[in-house]
Amino acid sequence: MPVLELREVRKTYPGEPPVESVKGIDLTVEPGEMLAVRGASGSGKSTLLHLMAGLDRPTSGSVRIDGRPVEGLGDRRLAGLRAHRVGVVFQQFFLLEALTALDNVAAGLLYRGVPVARRRRAAAEALTRVGLAHRMRHRVTRMSGGERQRVAIARAVVGRPAIVFADEPTGNLDSGTEKEIMDLLRELNDDGTTLVVVTHDEEVAAACRRSIEIRDGRVVR
Ligand code: ADP
Ligand code: MG
Repeated sequence: MPVLELREVRKTYPGEPPVESVKGIDLTVEPGEMLAVRGASGSGKSTLLHLMAGLDRPTSGSVRIDGRPVEGLGDRRLAGLRAHRVGVVFQQFFLLEALTALDNVAAGLLYRGVPVARRRRAAAEALTRVGLAHRMRHRVTRMSGGERQRVAIARAVVGRPAIVFADEPTGNLDSGTEKEIMDLLRELNDDGTTLVVVTHDEEVAAACRRSIEIRDGRVVR
């Protein structure tokens, strides 16, 4: 069963005039894949990522995440599906600055009702997977950009979701750190994590195992 399936997905933002950002996208992602969605700035990548991750609903068409159609779920069930089956990594990391790396990652399990001791144990394991075992108790404000993105990746994978999305995960990093982060994502994929990476960067796309290109809201190849 595919872990993600999009059929004729469209997204129009209301306004004068309305903006049609995604114009009929079909896409299937199988378990274990590492897919890049490439495209220039403004081509609709972030809009598509929000739709694929269940963070937003399509104007029309169908999105199935881990077999469940998003359009058939109410807001609470959709939030539950996201909390249990989806991980997301953003360019801006979105970490809680006042917290340690460990507590940031443990927060990734908050909406699952996991007791705190188990959350912290799972967080420590995830931080070890991303190479930050020695930095767990540090506040994220003391960390470099590359380390912060590792923390964000640990938070995305801590609950072993069915699929992990990353939106320009190296957009705020220098090129040496970019390579480290892409190596890490490939390692996680080798261990079975299904990944979709949205990027305008050719090198990031080349580091993925399959790539599609979108232009003006449509898949062009
Ligand atoms: P990318 O991530 O590839 O740069 P986006 O998905 O952010 O592309 O944007 C695609 C198009 O949709 C752009 O024309 C953008 O201005 C428009 N857009 C994105 N988000 C919104 C929004 N919330 N309201 C209106 N227009 C939007
Ligand atoms: Mg974007």
